[in-house]
Amino acid sequence: MLKLRNTLTRAEEEFAPLEGNTVRMYACGPTVYDYGHIGNFRTFVAVDVLRRYLRYLGYEVHHVMNITDVDDKIIRGMLQSGKSLRDYTEFYTQAFLEDSRSLGIEQPEVMPRATDHIPEMIDLMNRLAESGHTYKSEGSLYFSIGSFPTYGKLSGLKVEGNISGARVDVDEYEKADARDFVLWKEPKEEGEPRWPSPFGEGRPGWHLECSAMSMKYLGESFDIHSGGVDLIFPHHENEIAQSEGATGKPFVHFWVHAEFLLVEGEKMSKSKGNYYTVRDLLAKGHSPMAIRYLLLSVPYRTQLNFTMEGLRGAETALEGLRNLRRRASEFSGESGTHARVQDALTQARENFEAGMNDDLNTSNALAAVHDLRRDVNTAMDAGEFGMGDCDAVLGLLDRVNSVLGVLPKEEESLDPAFVAEIEAMIEQRNTARRDRDFARADEIRNELATRGIVLEDTPQGTKWKRK
Ligand code: AMP
Ligand code: ZN
Repeated sequence: MLKLRNTLTRAEEEFAPLEGNTVRMYACGPTVYDYGHIGNFRTFVAVDVLRRYLRYLGYEVHHVMNITDVDDKIIRGMLQSGKSLRDYTEFYTQAFLEDSRSLGIEQPEVMPRATDHIPEMIDLMNRLAESGHTYKSEGSLYFSIGSFPTYGKLSGLKVEGNISGARVDVDEYEKADARDFVLWKEPKEEGEPRWPSPFGEGRPGWHLECSAMSMKYLGESFDIHSGGVDLIFPHHENEIAQSEGATGKPFVHFWVHAEFLLVEGEKMSKSKGNYYTVRDLLAKGHSPMAIRYLLLSVPYRTQLNFTMEGLRGAETALEGLRNLRRRASEFSGESGTHARVQDALTQARENFEAGMNDDLNTSNALAAVHDLRRDVNTAMDAGEFGMGDCDAVLGLLDRVNSVLGVLPKEEESLDPAFVAEIEAMIEQRNTARRDRDFARADEIRNELATRGIVLEDTPQGTKWKRK
């Protein structure tokens, strides 16, 4: 049974979907004003592991991740660049998708852009205005936090004293600056993007975007909402106020927050300049899978200090797993299984699942896989390993890799020269069969079998796979 730490209740709780077998989850996506850094990708990898593990457990996952393509930072960058809002944000959206692909992050089912959802945001503001949660001041629309008695329940903030009328216009601010926050902003500068609305021309605040998009695609109450810990306040606190203020229903069942990636003890961030992008590291010759491995090697709720030495360590650990898979897939020997290997497999699967069920403790889950690596290598060295063991090891590696995503898909890991040779032999066999030289055709099939390749003749032609 999967337990997840819920920021809202400050407890680890057993996870079950609100309805049926489908998990509806929302992750705050990137703000596309620059390339993402690997701190951002630590959070996105953590969310990817969560989605993959939910599927491993047999759930259907409906995962929505927005693209924030209008906010204070974007407008600043866009005005400086002289580009249109769409051109400016599209470039960084594509860069984000490329980096995500290279880190093996699966694409969420829906990736809505904020600027494509202005009508939904206006609807939400109308509902909030009708229920007395808003007021207009100096051309902008604000959410009155005094109108929502449980404001602060996610972050533990106590709203004390008379805050009425004190307002904050920026998208990001600290707890000490908790004030009525802006829903819809009046343009201040020439060239700022703007949309018509019943509240005047303007643009949405960041918080409003996520409430409107998550409820559009997932309903008014859904299972999981995630992001980095820096989003707890004010972003997620404000999303709760907006959504629950409008619907009167609980917005999200589980709030899941990933801890920071640090550099020399400080949060990796654009503003501190202490960051690496995925591209920076690839240009230095590091492999994307080692970056992914490093980012998930520590449980998501523990801070992770980034060092080049750590990245090299991840490369070595990953090489051990790649070697294990290569060795097992090239193994040929007696059929049958060995009790010691079968026990090691059972143990590895149980420990892997126990680790993941414990609030996604990826470090324990990885330790289980490395224990298996050691046991299998020992058994192979001792000649106590059979073809049945081999299939089971490869099967379990595939299963755990469906969650961790650190090993390339097997066909991608094949050497292209090897693939070309196999395909040439299959072609020769097809020619022999056309010439009715079945002895030669069988000879080629047997030769391939000794190299660990099995053939399947289908109406679409001959397919092959490794044993
Ligand atoms: P942004 O593109 O700034 O909206 O951030 C995207 C995601 O990255 C958010 O979920 C942030 O909480 C997260 N994030 C930002 N910095 C870090 C960091 N140093 N470590 C982990 N996650 C981070
Ligand atoms: Zn968000």
